[in-house]
Amino acid sequence: SHDVPPTARNSSGQTISLWHRLAESTNEERNRTDSSSLQNTAQSKTPFDVAVIGAGIAGMSTAYRLQKSGKRVCLIERENFGSGETGRTTAQFATSIDDRYFEIESKFGKKVSQLVARSQLDSIRLTEQWIKDEGISCQAKRVPGYLFLSPTDHPSILEKEFEAAKTAGLPVRMVSPVVTSLNTELSSEHSSEHSSEHSSKLSSELNSKQWLEFPDQLSLQPLAYLKGLLSGFLKAGGSFLPHSAVDTVTWSGDEATLHCSKHISDSSELHAHAVVTATNSPFIDRLEMHTKQAAYRTYVVTFEIKNGAIPDAFYWDTQDDYHYVRLHQVGEQTLLIVGGEDHKTGQSEDPEKSWANLEEWTRKHFPEVGKVTDRWSGQVLEPSDFLTFAGRNPLDHKNSFIITGDSGNGMTNATIGAQIVSDLILGHDNPFVELYAPNRKATATDPGRSKAGLNRPQQ
Ligand SMILES: Cc1cc2nc3c(=O)[nH]c(=O)nc-3n(C[C@H](O)[C@H](O)[C@H](O)COP(=O)(O)OP(=O)(O)OC[C@H]3O[C@@H](n4cnc5c(N)ncnc54)[C@H](O)[C@@H]3O)c2cc1C
Repeated sequence: SHDVPPTARNSSGQTISLWHRLAESTNEERNRTDSSSLQNTAQSKTPFDVAVIGAGIAGMSTAYRLQKSGKRVCLIERENFGSGETGRTTAQFATSIDDRYFEIESKFGKKVSQLVARSQLDSIRLTEQWIKDEGISCQAKRVPGYLFLSPTDHPSILEKEFEAAKTAGLPVRMVSPVVTSLNTELSSEHSSEHSSEHSSKLSSELNSKQWLEFPDQLSLQPLAYLKGLLSGFLKAGGSFLPHSAVDTVTWSGDEATLHCSKHISDSSELHAHAVVTATNSPFIDRLEMHTKQAAYRTYVVTFEIKNGAIPDAFYWDTQDDYHYVRLHQVGEQTLLIVGGEDHKTGQSEDPEKSWANLEEWTRKHFPEVGKVTDRWSGQVLEPSDFLTFAGRNPLDHKNSFIITGDSGNGMTNATIGAQIVSDLILGHDNPFVELYAPNRKATATDPGRSKAGLNRPQQ
């Protein structure tokens, strides 16, 4: 067996997220994320029922669910749990989707938008259930989420999304803004950009100060959540192999051999009857999935802010490359976490400029903020047709599964993905299998709106 190193770390040379810094720096946070005390029982001689590759939220949730359902599971991770994007996330578990319900409805119809909404609701409920079942201490709480108008958008966009989200079955409502500095700024910006007749119409619409509220979103500390799931997985008899990268997977009949670099006990091979690749970008895929999604870099800056200065909530603007905002409490200190400035990976990489833009935007819209505490970046994969991918890996063995295409809702999507793949392996029905099937066509019919449409990333 292998000891699990004390903390979840990210790769050297990359930016350090708030969560990774906290895991390194304070006792309280270290206790939340230190997994060295967890018993680990890796055995590689007999084939596992399932090998799960990657210990981010997708792989961890899959391994946890399957082991709890009686399968013998091995979870293999190149570094440590939370080393990838789940250690860089802002962890907003949201029913609001960044690609908008009205887009989904116009592209696929009402039934699909209802299914998408239901999958997001189910995902949040399931996450909360697991937190309760395992007694995970990860600062989980329900908060409202607010979508507000960006100066680049027409006010009707909020009304459209309100109608579409309601039709999709979500308990949304239009409310007065809860942070007034946001609307004052937006009104004046908007007025300066338009003709006087147009601007007076827009100003009056903006003055009605309507925001779209998505109630009961879920906020948590992502590394603490992952540690809690890992603990439950190990207690149920699961095997965790950190610091073991899977290089290739080959199939002989119904048995897969996973070839690993670094090492697994005394062997560099591991055998399993089913393989779940949850490495965010599926390394086993050479073509199929990479043509259906595009990689985006996204940036985060965190600021000190006075306790109670703004209500504890998620905030998003309507911009295509939108800003996403939440609060987080570290001891006595409240932090405002602000993300945005997305661009295609490999294009116009200038992190200093992206962070500076984010800081400028934040100081303008949330003048209450104090000094900057952390800055980092990460990557998200945007599927061409806005829907995540989870299920059987196309053109592969029938027991090879993938979870990818996270998009801006990666935390909920990965949790849904873990459910879909687990249900397929367990032979249970799942209402979302077809919706998120990786072998679907996934064409972008509206490349203007679709982030992953034309203009593939330079990777
Ligand atoms: C800055 C940022 C903010 C975000 N904010 C939000 C948000 O507020 N809400 C939301 O819903 N989503 C958000 N997302 C998206 C969300 O965080 C991700 O979709 C999610 O964390 C992806 O989880 P994952 O398990 O698929 O991938 P990862 O967490 O990246 O896990 C994959 C793991 O696989 C391991 N691995 C890779 N290759 C191998 C190999 N060959 N062998 C073994 N292991 C391997 C990696 O080390 C990694 O640990 C955000 C993303 C970023 C970058």
